[in-house]
Amino acid sequence: MKEKTFCLIKPDAFERNIVGKILDIIEAHGFQFVAMRFLHLSETEAEQFYIIHKDKDFYHGLCKYMSEGPVLCMVLEKENAIADLRKLMGVTDPDKAEKGTIRNEFGIDIRHNSIHGSDSPESVKREITFFFKGVI
Ligand code: UDP
Ligand code: MG
Repeated sequence: MKEKTFCLIKPDAFERNIVGKILDIIEAHGFQFVAMRFLHLSETEAEQFYIIHKDKDFYHGLCKYMSEGPVLCMVLEKENAIADLRKLMGVTDPDKAEKGTIRNEFGIDIRHNSIHGSDSPESVKREITFFFKGVI
């Protein structure tokens, strides 16, 4: 059964002109693009999106970075989309991410790691609603 997930390309990918390369990899792994939205978040919007991390020491720096350039928000669809996207992304820190993963190949450091993917069905619901309210 097909499943939807939410994915976001982060500002560091736009900064280095590697957005197309990342989209190519996502497509090549069988994900279909269901919706896309190109945005430049305000710091307040980034704070809302990452609200679950509000007590972490990296929260302020993360939200500042996420509002410093454009992002591409996407709904992707395929079988097992949530887990498969997380696997294709690799773990948060590009240095620790498995070879061949997007973060290992393109990420700069634990903050500037090029891509976000929802981690659970609950996150998918929240994150799709956050960016695509009334659209899909
Ligand atoms: N992050 C950061 N410093 C850290 C850990 C995370 O700036 O020490 C950023 C990074 O961009 C990460 C995001 O915060 O992708 C959300 O963190 P989370 O632990 O949810 O990682 P993810 O689910 O994105 O792998
Ligand atoms: Mg997370």
